[in-house]
Amino acid sequence: MPHRVESESRKLLGKLRETMAAQTAGQERLDEIVALIAMSMQAEVCSIYLFRDSETLELCATQGLAAAAVHETRMRLGEGLVGRTARSRRVINTADAPSERGFRYMPETGEERFSSFCGVPVQRVGDILGVLVVQSKTARKFTPDEVYALEVVAMVLAEMAELGAFVGEGAALAAPHQRPSLIKGSIAQEGAAEGRVYLHEPRVVVTNPISDDPEVELARLREAIETLRTSVDDMLSGNRSLNGEQKQILEAYRMFANSRSWKKRMEDDVSNGLSAEAAVEKEQSLAKARLSHAGDAYMRERLNDLDDLSNRLLRILTGQGAETGAEMPDNPILVAKNIGPGELLDYGKKLRGIVLEEGSVGSHATIVARAWAIPLVINAKGVTTQALNGDNMLVDGDQGFVHLRPDETVQSAFREKIAMQALAQERYASIREHPAKTKCGSVIRLDMNAGLMADLPSLEGSGAEGVGLFRTELQFLVRNKMPRRGELSALYSRVLKASAGKRVAFRTLDIGSDKVLTYMKPNDEPNPAMGWRAIRVGLDKPGVLRMQLQALIRAADGGPLTVMFPFITLHEEFIAAKAEMDKALAREKRLGHPVPSSLEVGAMMETPSLAYAPDAFFKDVDFISIGGNDLKQFFFAADRENERVRKRYDTLSPSFLNFLSMVIARCEQNGTPISFCGEDAGRPVEALCFAALGLRSLSMRPASVGPVKHILRRVDLSEVRAVIEQSMADGDTSVRRAVADWLAYQV
Ligand code: PEP
Ligand code: MG
Repeated sequence: MPHRVESESRKLLGKLRETMAAQTAGQERLDEIVALIAMSMQAEVCSIYLFRDSETLELCATQGLAAAAVHETRMRLGEGLVGRTARSRRVINTADAPSERGFRYMPETGEERFSSFCGVPVQRVGDILGVLVVQSKTARKFTPDEVYALEVVAMVLAEMAELGAFVGEGAALAAPHQRPSLIKGSIAQEGAAEGRVYLHEPRVVVTNPISDDPEVELARLREAIETLRTSVDDMLSGNRSLNGEQKQILEAYRMFANSRSWKKRMEDDVSNGLSAEAAVEKEQSLAKARLSHAGDAYMRERLNDLDDLSNRLLRILTGQGAETGAEMPDNPILVAKNIGPGELLDYGKKLRGIVLEEGSVGSHATIVARAWAIPLVINAKGVTTQALNGDNMLVDGDQGFVHLRPDETVQSAFREKIAMQALAQERYASIREHPAKTKCGSVIRLDMNAGLMADLPSLEGSGAEGVGLFRTELQFLVRNKMPRRGELSALYSRVLKASAGKRVAFRTLDIGSDKVLTYMKPNDEPNPAMGWRAIRVGLDKPGVLRMQLQALIRAADGGPLTVMFPFITLHEEFIAAKAEMDKALAREKRLGHPVPSSLEVGAMMETPSLAYAPDAFFKDVDFISIGGNDLKQFFFAADRENERVRKRYDTLSPSFLNFLSMVIARCEQNGTPISFCGEDAGRPVEALCFAALGLRSLSMRPASVGPVKHILRRVDLSEVRAVIEQSMADGDTSVRRAVADWLAYQV
């Protein structure tokens, strides 16, 4: 880096700091800054364009263009060279702007006189805030050093904007994190929630973009990098239970942490006047910009690693921890990139809402949120960068919208919506004690799904008849070590007591897939959902299964007991699992413990193969429970956690309904009780169709019992069946529309 430019950008940063320290307000500040930059860069023009909304850029200050154009000239994202800089998040540097692709002539600015153009994105860790532009009459490309100096200044501008430095008279520009924002995501759990943001991984706040003393700052940076390196080394050497993928990630971290060029670039930034934190963020922003262009999945992963590593480095520098930092507000709305079921369980039911940048409807974290009836929006792009801890947030789980920092009108409309929902809940409460009896006289048993002690009070409130699926693995997920038999039996006994004689179908442990126990040696499997999971683990390593069965028998304490095995794929697996139950019973008898007064042992049908098992299987089981979440994933060969493929296939497609009808018919022929406990059972239209096909037992999350019962009580199933048949005869790819339209006239 030539000395001249180095000292220029340092000088410039020094002056910027003075501007920041001065008492000037928004517009004045911006005006001073553009004048400063133009002078220092020896360019005739310097302008700052900032986003008005997510699609529109506005000229907010200029030195050299017509003053009247300020706050008047606007362009769409992607429009003109400024719009292109913003969209591509890359520098555009040209000696002949008018002949560039996309050049837009804006007469009000008088800019046709300027030949050279250099636009630099003003961005902060993935958030693009605007564009900094310099222009000159002489046809010349700005040198790499000049571009570098502009990037450094753009970085500081982004930090200043973040801190609200441009808010005030005339500028009419709120800090990006003070503006209201509407984010569109996808629906994962309906409901409305109002609360305050609680970031799963809070973003680091940098308050000092410009350093006072580059020497001190360099030392801080070097020390922080050293700490980072040691911590990555420690993670790699001290953690024996890492699986292949985790190891690979840490290896990549180590590679970056030791990268000389990464370190050198940040050191240069610090020498040029940035603080250590701002230098880390500058590199991080550039990596993020590259990330948005990277087509190659491997490259994207690596850039993600670098992003994560930069966050760690920032935390070391600022002392802001990942899990500390902010106190949980009163009505917390959890905002995260993604979250596993175990982590979500750690937060517990206190969350008012959840918003995920990624996430999927089929994941177990979603199932936990649904079980707790916590409104959940997934695929909310950009939410983790836009939201700050403590921000006001409204989650509209019915529409899949998130209102961040909403204004008064939105807030009051939303409160009305919440009140309406409370009214609907009251209506469901009034039928709580009534059966789900249809107009044609069929009675459908409605049970609820549960997995935690905390779910049991819903048994009373929801109007469910019992627990059709108790996911025992949730108890294992919330702990950090394997529970002991005594603990388990005490817990199951409490569950049975709390259910006061109502039937509870305990499903034995279903770990594997996305349910990972931190204290069990992880398996490095390319396809965990189709891997060593659930009953497969239980049969190959029967220690835990035996302990669980014993704990269940002891908890029943001579009363009735219902147990079902997950993920049974073949008759033989059920025979082997049942044999474990028989052994456990014999053992308990030998030890003098009471055996259950009645025992039902069932199988979950979660793979299509089981539907084609020999009749002997259907006769052998006491009941079958269809685990629709997994069954659908294997029926359609569509990963339940992959939103892209999951959404392509509808439960109410003729293929799946024909398949279900076949299963129901086989159960009828063999006298096998059958129920459905996947998420679809709790969706009113699906529940209606299942009942019309002949299912008489459905198990769902507690909050769905009311709406499903409400609908069932209003219909004649033979009519629903006729609608389904007609829709299929018409060749519809899904009967959903036909049934929903018919329903609209009934209720
Ligand atoms: C299912 O697969 O439908 C089911 C109920 O089990 P889980 O969602 O826990 O895999
Ligand atoms: Mg399942």
